[in-house]
Amino acid sequence: MKPEPADDSALSACKDKLKNFRIKELKDVLQQLGLSRQGKKQELADRIMARLSDQQDQVSNLNGKHMVAKEKVLKIVDDTYTKLHEPANPVAVSRNQVDSGLSVSPKKKLTESAQVVKVRCPCGNSMANGPMVKCDDPQCNVWQHVGCVIISEKSADNVPTELPASFYCDICRINRADPFWVTVNHPLLPTAVAPSKIADDGSYTVQYLEKTFPLSRANREMLQKAEYDIQVWCILLDDKVPFRIHWPLHSDVQVNGVHLRVVNRQITQQLGANGRDDGPVLTEYCKEGPNKIVLSRSDSRMFSLGVRIAKRRSLQEVLSLVPKEHDGEKFDYALARVRRCVGGGAEADKADSDSDIEVVAQSL
Ligand SMILES: [Zn+2]
Ligand SMILES: [Zn+2]
Repeated sequence: MKPEPADDSALSACKDKLKNFRIKELKDVLQQLGLSRQGKKQELADRIMARLSDQQDQVSNLNGKHMVAKEKVLKIVDDTYTKLHEPANPVAVSRNQVDSGLSVSPKKKLTESAQVVKVRCPCGNSMANGPMVKCDDPQCNVWQHVGCVIISEKSADNVPTELPASFYCDICRINRADPFWVTVNHPLLPTAVAPSKIADDGSYTVQYLEKTFPLSRANREMLQKAEYDIQVWCILLDDKVPFRIHWPLHSDVQVNGVHLRVVNRQITQQLGANGRDDGPVLTEYCKEGPNKIVLSRSDSRMFSLGVRIAKRRSLQEVLSLVPKEHDGEKFDYALARVRRCVGGGAEADKADSDSDIEVVAQSL
């Protein structure tokens, strides 16, 4: 047994939490640590992380006047995070509890031991109850309820739900959906869009989801800059193409009373395997303070909807993310692959085209 097993994971968990903080939370933490609260957002976060790494080697030397124990820093960040996101504390769940709720064959992600489970599910419940699934993103570590995010056709017949080979939470999926956008923060965290009931005769009822999200002055000021925008997005849970925006059928979005067109296809037409929807930009319709968003739709599938502030990457920045030829595949192969993806390709190639998109998205 190593004496300090949680050091690295505690640090990276802390870093993840800081990413979720607004300037207000960062300043809160800095104030509690007695550090300067001046500077840009990234500088504030870096200052907190620097305080943590400072003490990596000096944990035993806590008697200096201005020395704050690393644990204290972690605890302050933790408490602030809890206040920000979750009414209840993160729930500690032992591996046994996680496994016992699952009626699936053991998979790698279920055999990892989970000390503290960070639950962030579109249903809004932060308790780890029932079967859980963990996001594959190594930086994310979020767990979600299997019943909320994995909808297999079999589950209706009480046949055990099969977990997919790879699973990404909604935030990690939207982060990979468009290389031209980098998520900065989430004024509205992902929220479940419940399925609509479709009657036997095919008639449908329109359902409304109404949410209010706050926009701070700092965020509003950030949005004055050309490269920042606020965007509403929606993804289909359990989408066969994981990294894309996907709106329900008959979608209509209103932001502060203004109607927005969300899809270019017919509202009655399903999104095909090679299609992608867009996330409308809300920048000109949002104001400082509370903003109201209403989604009406009629679709029997489950979706997750959120609002994010994102920074645009230039074409040059996106191109620089593409692996160089000598690090990856030959240009001719890549070109053939992109042609398959874009053009649809022959039947035999189709299975491979989605996973290619996934590989490209993951390398971003
Ligand atoms: Zn849930
Ligand atoms: Zn994730």
